[in-house]
Amino acid sequence: MSINAKCLKCGAESAADDELAGKVVGCPKCKAGMVIPDGPIIPDPEPAPAAAPSRETIHLQHVKSAATISRLLIGIGDWSLALSVFAVVSFIVLKFGGELHGPVFLPCVIILGSGVITFGLFRAAGHGLRLLADIEENTR
Ligand SMILES: [Zn+2]
Repeated sequence: MSINAKCLKCGAESAADDELAGKVVGCPKCKAGMVIPDGPIIPDPEPAPAAAPSRETIHLQHVKSAATISRLLIGIGDWSLALSVFAVVSFIVLKFGGELHGPVFLPCVIILGSGVITFGLFRAAGHGLRLLADIEENTR
């Protein structure tokens, strides 16, 4: 005859030999120690269905992902500005080094301008999102 034992940690049920009654064995599933009962087991009442994530939890997840996206947007903005500055500096260095012929001023203005615009747009979007997330979080 065997005894039904239930792991308190993961809930796995397993059958154990009679002689193990009252002893602690490793759960076959999660390896946590489980006590083999030495009396008849009273079956648990039907476990309650797992609660659906609460509105609160979903809300927090949204706020968190909004914060992540806003950091990403700000990062992209910073990078585009850094890259455009880098490109303009290389242009000027090359021009003064005599490596580059032709107009330099206009390309520099265009590159720097688009870098600054991208920076501004992404920063604004990132901070806007962050602000919305903060407002959401604080007005619960
Ligand atoms: Zn277990």
